[in-house]
Amino acid sequence: MSSVRVRVAPSPTGDPHVGTAYMSLFCLAFARQQGGQFILRIEDTDQARYVENSEQQIFDLLHWLSLDWDEGPDRGGPVGPYRQSERLPLYQAAAHELIQAGHAYECWCTPERLTAMRAEQQKAKMPTGYDRLCLGKTREQRAAEPGSSDRAVVRMLVPESPPLTFTDLIRGDTNAPVPDDQVILKADGFPTYHLGVVVDDHHMGITHVTRGEEWISSTPKHLLLYDWLGWDPPRFAHFPLLRNTDRSKISKRKNPAARLVWFKEQGYLPEALLNFLALMGWSMPDGREIFTFQDVVENFAWERFSPVGPIFDVDKLDWLNGQYIQRLTDDEFLRRARPFLPGEGQDAALRRLTLPLKERTKRLAELGEQVDFLFVGNLDVPADQLVKQGLDAPAAIAALEAAESALERLAGFEPAPIEQALSDVCAERSMNRRKFFMTVRVAVTGKTATPPLHDTIAAIGRERSVARLRDAQSTLAQSSH
Ligand code: GLU
Repeated sequence: MSSVRVRVAPSPTGDPHVGTAYMSLFCLAFARQQGGQFILRIEDTDQARYVENSEQQIFDLLHWLSLDWDEGPDRGGPVGPYRQSERLPLYQAAAHELIQAGHAYECWCTPERLTAMRAEQQKAKMPTGYDRLCLGKTREQRAAEPGSSDRAVVRMLVPESPPLTFTDLIRGDTNAPVPDDQVILKADGFPTYHLGVVVDDHHMGITHVTRGEEWISSTPKHLLLYDWLGWDPPRFAHFPLLRNTDRSKISKRKNPAARLVWFKEQGYLPEALLNFLALMGWSMPDGREIFTFQDVVENFAWERFSPVGPIFDVDKLDWLNGQYIQRLTDDEFLRRARPFLPGEGQDAALRRLTLPLKERTKRLAELGEQVDFLFVGNLDVPADQLVKQGLDAPAAIAALEAAESALERLAGFEPAPIEQALSDVCAERSMNRRKFFMTVRVAVTGKTATPPLHDTIAAIGRERSVARLRDAQSTLAQSSH
């Protein structure tokens, strides 16, 4: 296999992290640019952290972003299976081969013994790491000493001075710390990440290993494994970690925006989120901030990355999403808005408001609250909300009554005549414009901030508007008794 093959390899340990989308975006762009393949592999070897629905969420959210893979657990492919739990014999064979060649050894130490060993190392201010008690021993020899169990793990036998430098596509020459005798095969027969990733990247023909910066320190272990197994290592690219505005690493515990599903729930458009992610540590040659996935494909270059952890600024994403929303056609806007609306129907009403709504919406999830008055009959606006707009109860009643009859008299029910009629009423009675319009607005919508009032009234329709103006008058009349 000579063409580019890249993969993203999430672990199904909870709902997906935004970093999975971030890396998938660039992997896919690189694969498309090179005419190569993008592979999705599920790294489910940590049985204790496995979360049932997580894999499906990974599929769904990557599909939502149109980050579609060529090979994966759900689609199959020539080098499957694509779930690590279905590939155990491959890892076990590799571990066996490494033991035979003297590059790995079995270890029977119990977790209690390892904890005690580490505590002692720390007390003596020594570097922590496995002390090789099991090295060179048979199971029987080791069993004669305390702290041994009958199930072995397999550890790498790291040589005296392993190579610690490698060339990273994003970072150039990169140094990593000396590894310890890392466990590669666990007692349950599952590999640890290190063995799993190397065996799979090799057997799956991965040409470029792309992953987060947190794996830099593991790379020397992986290079040793490639060497021992007689395999050519792939190239490596370690993406910068996305950071909060205080520069801490984005984590799902501390920041809702670390959870990929959050963006969908908030009503970010997938194309806006992709655009935003593409601005994280990467840039277009002309510095443009709004661009498509296809633009990333055409301009992709590893040199365009900055290895410094990009700041994940949700305000910037809000701005960008707003830009994308404004560019939607009305039909498309309504189609995307649908899942966020408080009810069914009201299409004609919404259509009257698309322009102002598109202008003011940053996240589609805000829409529900912005247009809730379209999805109910009566509003039951409390009297104090009405008088808070500056007219006392008798004045507010008079204003609403005048507005009501003006709307009833209108021949049609279009925004411009509505505006004209209400302005005329206000002028004839010399009412304060702001107070008058705010009282009417609150009476027909229940809120003080809405799209322009005449558009809103036209959207609500004559019958409902008039009924709400009348209801508000009786509420005020009752309250002043
Ligand atoms: N399973 C690893 C993770 O979720 C993948 C790292 C890699 O891509 O090598 O971080």
